[in-house]
Amino acid sequence: MAIVPFHHDLGVVQGFLRFSRAVALLVCAVALVVLAGWWWDRPLLTTVWPGQAAMTANAAIGFVLSGSSLLLSQHYPPGRSNFGRGLSLAVLAIGAVTLAEYLWVTDLGIDHLIGGPPANGSGRWPGRMGEPVAVGFVLLGGLGLLPARRWLYLREGLAVGLLAIAMSGLASYGIALAGKSELLFGRMPIHTALLLLLATLGWLSATPTLGLTRVATADTLGGALARRLLLPALLLPALFAFAFQLLQSWLGLPDTLAFVFMALFSGGVAAGMVWWAANLFDKLERQRRESIALRNDAGTDILTGLANRRALDEALAGLLRSQREHDRMFSLLMLDLDRFKTFNDEFGHLAGDQVLRITGQLLRAALRPSDLAARYGGEEFVLLLPETDVAGASEVATRVLDAFRDFAWPYRAVTVSIGVAQAAFSDGSEDLIRRADAALYDAKHAGRDQTVTAVAPPTVARSKI
Ligand code: GH3
Ligand code: MG
Ligand code: MG
Repeated sequence: MAIVPFHHDLGVVQGFLRFSRAVALLVCAVALVVLAGWWWDRPLLTTVWPGQAAMTANAAIGFVLSGSSLLLSQHYPPGRSNFGRGLSLAVLAIGAVTLAEYLWVTDLGIDHLIGGPPANGSGRWPGRMGEPVAVGFVLLGGLGLLPARRWLYLREGLAVGLLAIAMSGLASYGIALAGKSELLFGRMPIHTALLLLLATLGWLSATPTLGLTRVATADTLGGALARRLLLPALLLPALFAFAFQLLQSWLGLPDTLAFVFMALFSGGVAAGMVWWAANLFDKLERQRRESIALRNDAGTDILTGLANRRALDEALAGLLRSQREHDRMFSLLMLDLDRFKTFNDEFGHLAGDQVLRITGQLLRAALRPSDLAARYGGEEFVLLLPETDVAGASEVATRVLDAFRDFAWPYRAVTVSIGVAQAAFSDGSEDLIRRADAALYDAKHAGRDQTVTAVAPPTVARSKI
């Protein structure tokens, strides 16, 4: 079976684009503040709070360039301007040159464009970003440089790598903060890790109908789940690592107790997310059942409770198809109440309606579960009998006639005339109904309260019952 292509919620798609623009502006703004701190030698502006690791000047330059490139990518789609991609190339270069400096221990001059000389003879320029951040900028530059459609999988790979770097930075921040160890990722300032994360999400959101993001903008249950659960699922473990260190180091809880608390927190949060998803599934399933019930109602005749014309048309088309394709025979009975107009005239329409309701019950009682009884028009009914030839259909017709004759009608006896026709191989629905109708007409003319069977076209056999 062919799968229906992705269908996106337009409002959500626009929301993702707005988010991407907002992220681009935020990344630029934060990075510009940090740069101002370096330029005018205000350390407070380069860090989140005093005493914490500062975002390096080069990282800030990288973020300004990447944020601008992201903004331009939305205003000037690829092909119209390559300026934005040029900026991303510069981002990639910043990361690559820094990595080269690390690898070959040379000073290419890039890490002291801004910022003072190495502090305390550490040999490390304050402008030099850590290795993971440098790798991050290489990936971030690549993300803005590669055209989204042609290099989709490579871009996704870069984005996943970036997420891993940013999340490791966030998670190990807590550990480094607690003074536990000098982890590789622990040296990543928390605002650098956050901006890397945001910039990655911004780049992904800039192409909301492609790759990883397209699931999150789909107007399906999967889309709703992805929009609400992906980000918390990504961030919570890092938050837990931070909280764990907090409990252990700052509140002085022993390891075992801290573990117990974390197990409790993470279990509670995971259960909460599952509960929320289950609620959503539950609601949608109930809506689905309700709509199926409504659809069933749409195929039911209100007065008699039998199938209505629409349901009859669908069922008849289905039977004709299965006869053509699988050689399955079936028969159709056309019924019309006898002298019903005079019944209405004598006893009123309400009494007439009651007769129609009773007719519905009698017909249902006379049929097998696989048969279908439908109200064709005012006081005309059609029975569809799958896997039944004329002989079987005549038997059913006799049963129906007898049921009418035997029923204790409230006002006066009500009888019915029936035309029987077995579907011929060449029949369309109109041919079959026309033949059954002609047989019914003959039954009326022959004196009513009887069945006439139309044999295969063009002859019609009569059988007074
Ligand atoms: P015949 O034996 O030839 O069928 O005679 P008849 O009077 O039954 O003729 P016909 O089938 O043409 O009659 C249709 C009548 O059925 C007209 C109308 O008074 C009645 N009727 C149709 N729909 C309804 C309904 O929903 N409620 C009621 N009470 N009467 C209906
Ligand atoms: Mg009629
Ligand atoms: Mg009638």
